[in-house]
Amino acid sequence: MPIYEFTCSECGHAFEAIVPRPGAKAPCPECGSKKVKQGFSAPAAFSGRDSGESAPSCSSSG
Ligand SMILES: [Zn+2]
Repeated sequence: MPIYEFTCSECGHAFEAIVPRPGAKAPCPECGSKKVKQGFSAPAAFSGRDSGESAPSCSSSG
């Protein structure tokens, strides 16, 4: 099975995980979050994006 590189979107921890198929995501070993980004060269075969992608805008004045 191929090893893919992931980057956690929660803590930003980069790790490698073996996935059964290209497209599968592995949970972050640090925080255990499922919100990870695949860094390894993956084929553009995204069918159905996970909703819930909100960008935390840091806006503080003062
Ligand atoms: Zn994490």
